[in-house]
Amino acid sequence: MEEIKQIIRDVPDFPKQGIVFKDITPLLGHPEMFGKVVDHLKGRFDGRKVDHVVGIEARGFIFAAPLAYALGAGCVIVRKPGKLPYKTFQQTYTLEYGTDSIEIHQDAIKPDSNVVLIDDVLATGGTMAAAAELVKGNFNANILEATFIIELEFLKGREKLGGLDLHSLIQY
Ligand code: AMP
Repeated sequence: MEEIKQIIRDVPDFPKQGIVFKDITPLLGHPEMFGKVVDHLKGRFDGRKVDHVVGIEARGFIFAAPLAYALGAGCVIVRKPGKLPYKTFQQTYTLEYGTDSIEIHQDAIKPDSNVVLIDDVLATGGTMAAAAELVKGNFNANILEATFIIELEFLKGREKLGGLDLHSLIQY
């Protein structure tokens, strides 16, 4: 994990003043490390049946796809409004200023499925809380875990995700 931590790049004041952006592109571009991360995530579900891995736009997709493949699961995408072509369910959540929404296709998850949710960074937790609500509120599915590569503990995102099993690879 220390190796992974070393390779994540801090970009100060991106995308705006005061934010330290955790840039995962050096990890994605690393020939061995990216695979190691996916293998580690896969190992968490050894012996458990996973039907769908749900990736959250946009960097969640990058991990959802290889993890779904490794687990023999389907890959489901949760997107910003207006991006998914078919009928959708929508969930709105509050940001510091205003609101945002995410969507999922109405036929994306089969009843009684075991689902893993994944995103790159857990910050305030608002996005993942909305994604969990989107899945729980519209499908009779069982969320095994919400998984992140990075958790920004000082933002206390976990507090918004009370009922979920959470996992993060590295913490700041
Ligand atoms: P939140 O809803 O606050 O937990 O924000 C989560 C989303 O914002 C994730 O999809 C992240 O990709 C992105 N995000 C928030 N803060 C950062 C950060 N400091 N560095 C990189 N991505 C971030």
